[in-house]
Amino acid sequence: MAKTEPGPHNFVFGNYAPARESKDHFKIKKSYDLFIGGKWVKASKKFETINPATGEVIAKVGEAGKKEVGQAVKAARKAFEGEWGQLSGAERGKYLFRIARLIQERSRELAVVESMDGGKPIRESRDVDIPLVAAHFFYHAGWADKLDYAFPGVKPKPLGVVGQVIPWNFPLLMAAWKIAPALACGNTVVLKPAETTPLTVLKLAEIFEDAGLPPGTVNIVTGAGETGQALIEHPDVDKIAFTGSTAVGKAIRRAIAGTDKKFTLELGGKAANIVFEDAPINEAVEGILNGIFFNQGHVCCAGSRLFVQESIADKVIKKLKKRMETLIVGDPLDKNTDIGAINSAEQLERIKVLVKAGEREGACIWQPEGRLPRKGNWFKPTLFTECAQSHRIVQEEIFGPVLAIQTFRTPQEALEKANNTPYGLSGGVWTDKGSKIFKMTTGLKAGVVWANTFNKFDPTSPFGGYKESGIGREGGVHGLAAYLNF
Ligand code: NAD
Ligand code: MN
Repeated sequence: MAKTEPGPHNFVFGNYAPARESKDHFKIKKSYDLFIGGKWVKASKKFETINPATGEVIAKVGEAGKKEVGQAVKAARKAFEGEWGQLSGAERGKYLFRIARLIQERSRELAVVESMDGGKPIRESRDVDIPLVAAHFFYHAGWADKLDYAFPGVKPKPLGVVGQVIPWNFPLLMAAWKIAPALACGNTVVLKPAETTPLTVLKLAEIFEDAGLPPGTVNIVTGAGETGQALIEHPDVDKIAFTGSTAVGKAIRRAIAGTDKKFTLELGGKAANIVFEDAPINEAVEGILNGIFFNQGHVCCAGSRLFVQESIADKVIKKLKKRMETLIVGDPLDKNTDIGAINSAEQLERIKVLVKAGEREGACIWQPEGRLPRKGNWFKPTLFTECAQSHRIVQEEIFGPVLAIQTFRTPQEALEKANNTPYGLSGGVWTDKGSKIFKMTTGLKAGVVWANTFNKFDPTSPFGGYKESGIGREGGVHGLAAYLNF
């Protein structure tokens, strides 16, 4: 097969003909305002959101200051004390079902915009992100009128106004994780999306309008860290739900100390993916790839530390490299793409700094051959062997397509090494033996542990961390409880 010419939109590692998803079936406005009290409200300042695959500006969005955040909280309070707060659970459920169906109707548009604004491959936004967004609204719609059964005998009550701040790696999915349970439980919301990926959440606000959601039930304030801080510090917010870095999570705990605000924090991770010699090797290799290269490795629960049993290490690493040579890095809107653009120039820089540290500290780097696109933010799928527990690439979250590989001899050694981290969000175990799965999953100090699979998400399953990976759970009945007073 003939190679296509390398250009900004051509694959660097692939030789398939382009198969681009089109952008002509929807509109992105040149400029977006804030969504407050059911109206589009002008912010005094604007900032640009760019396409990280091309560097082009996609749209301008409002930058909410303290004043606008205050307006949004006021609108949310009014809705809580007014129309939304007075609805029965069954009526709230109807709105959530309606929103879920509208998300499905606009799923193609939402997937393309997600890939344009954040850089993730269209295959992922189309087949993973957006279906899960709809699933989250459907699941929580079902709970809205059944809270008394979820928590029998206690008659749970909503908390009130919830302030939510989310990251850029799963923009619309994180919004769904936050908004759907909050509304199912009868709260009202002010949500701030991440500054590099505000567009799909603004489109979700359009869906709220179309669904006729009572004004003020959900308010969207765009902006960067200062906007988030204004929301967190606002005295009339009853609960904070945050997903983002551990550093900001710590700052939030300091900011709300001494108040009676409730909070849940979903923070960083450095998951161990542990492969035993009796594992199905080819499936494990696919699981390792999915664990670290899904969404460019911008995944809090990414399997960024691989532990391979010594007896099969050479074989696994050889297969991994062979498979990595086939990964297609490039245009996020192309349906063949495996690895899209790095979300921002800042994130690319963070990845580069840590990769340099890995080389300097003595780990052995390997990347496939091939050229990256000229424009935009890119990083090759990368693996490191000869890693030590003390290396920065083993200890720190890279949040990019970079895998640190170590070996082990016994299950006990694997557990000790895997748990030697300040994080505890997720983990993976690959083995043919059920008994080993039980030993490892109970021994791993992590909120979610997958066995013979990785990165599987479901709205019914609680998700969250231990240690510096956070406090509280999202999803399932545990996630509902975090939005209720008992
Ligand atoms: P970040 O903490 O810098 O930003 C997250 C959000 O917080 C953004 O919306 C940002 O504008 C806002 N923010 C920044 N400073 C703030 C402040 N002082 N007060 C209030 N809000 C503030 O993180 P990021 O770089 O956007 O995201 C990557 C991090 O998020 C990674 O560490 C990743 O592991 C974590 N993450 C965790 C989960 C999870 O569920 N545990 C999910 C996704 C991402
Ligand atoms: Mn963007």
